[in-house]
Amino acid sequence: MIVQKFGGTSVADTECIQRAAWIVAEKYSEGNDLVVVVSAQGETTDELIDKAGKLNPNPSKREMDVLLSTGEQASCALMSMALEKIGMPSVSLTGWQVGIQTDSAYGSARIKAISAERIKAELDRRRIVVVAGFQGINGFNDITTLGRGGSDTTAVALAAALNADLCQIFTDVEGVFTADPRKIPDARKLEEITYDEMLELASLGAQVLQNRSVEMAKRYGVNLEVLSSFERKPGTKVKEVIKMEQSKISGVAADAKIARIALVGLRDEPGIAFKIFRVLANAKINVDIILQSIGREDTKDISFTVARGDMESAAQVLSEHQNTIGYTDISVTDKIAKVSIVGAGMMSASGVAALMFEALYDEKINIGMISTSEIKISVLVDERDADRAVSAIHAKFFG
Ligand code: ADP
Ligand code: ASP
Ligand code: MG
Repeated sequence: MIVQKFGGTSVADTECIQRAAWIVAEKYSEGNDLVVVVSAQGETTDELIDKAGKLNPNPSKREMDVLLSTGEQASCALMSMALEKIGMPSVSLTGWQVGIQTDSAYGSARIKAISAERIKAELDRRRIVVVAGFQGINGFNDITTLGRGGSDTTAVALAAALNADLCQIFTDVEGVFTADPRKIPDARKLEEITYDEMLELASLGAQVLQNRSVEMAKRYGVNLEVLSSFERKPGTKVKEVIKMEQSKISGVAADAKIARIALVGLRDEPGIAFKIFRVLANAKINVDIILQSIGREDTKDISFTVARGDMESAAQVLSEHQNTIGYTDISVTDKIAKVSIVGAGMMSASGVAALMFEALYDEKINIGMISTSEIKISVLVDERDADRAVSAIHAKFFG
């Protein structure tokens, strides 16, 4: 049993769909059961978002999901037709037909359960099942979508639910690289990467896999592979343990979709951080890096980052609570980016942070905030410095 997922570029036009169909046909003809997950063609999702924005700058999330799910629905029908044409028995199914049940968080729904009976019945008839990625259905029988890049999660979730032997993510690059290969020409393809490292890379801006898909792959031990649909070459295997890598880090990632909020002139007393982050938590806003300054003259400052999409609502709830929190000024900017290095190797190696900071110093790039965990180091830099920072850090570790 194999699940194969084809991303937007891999199904962008007729020729691409035909190429993908032959990849599917090959594995099917070897005697495997095949479930194929497809994304919307090319830039379809972005185009639909633009179209909606022209009619209503603030459309309801429910209607947005009805709209966006159409991209994947078109793709699955087209893929099934392409398979039919080359003599492969197949059937296309949408998220609700497959029984992908999610919560009600329109736009970023989480999969709760998959009742894969229909898929199993079709597979028993030796049909290739082509599933529309990125979508599910909630408790009200409404269509939901799984967040940008969500077709990866559909594929991994189906692989887990069906106990597939392999889940192949076909995309427009040859695998997972030490940095975005479109921005860093020297980036190297990784033969293997651990779930944990991949999860960090994906969460820190490497869009090659949606982070939720990696989370799920790790939880269910899905045998995951990222590879190109354009070139028949071995890709990158994502797994629990890998043979030791030479390098201290496995990759560099950048995320420009963030914003920083600073609260200035807070009282230097217990409970202030609690009040701030309780207000944000109640508004369901996720906070990432937090920095608190040393208190001086009984006041202190706290700054933190949030996803760019949450910037305005975060600023608004904080303003509403200015009196209870007690700050003098709030400053908000989205002209920043987070640049990170990831690697399980840094747990045992020393000097990794120093090397990263040296690369930034060489380029005269100023660091706004720093945050670390066992296997990653992130810094905040000016948005305009982000590409240069990635390039310098990559050259320092891999050059
Ligand atoms: P798909 O449409 O197939 O889902 P995506 O655009 O979502 O493809 O993801 C693939 C893209 O991810 C690549 O084109 C590449 O530019 C980008 N990317 C960013 N970081 C990395 C990385 N470390 N390794 C590989 N690709 C990366
Ligand atoms: N089409 C959706 C997106 O562009 C889902 C996906 O491609 O995985 O985000
Ligand atoms: Mg993607």
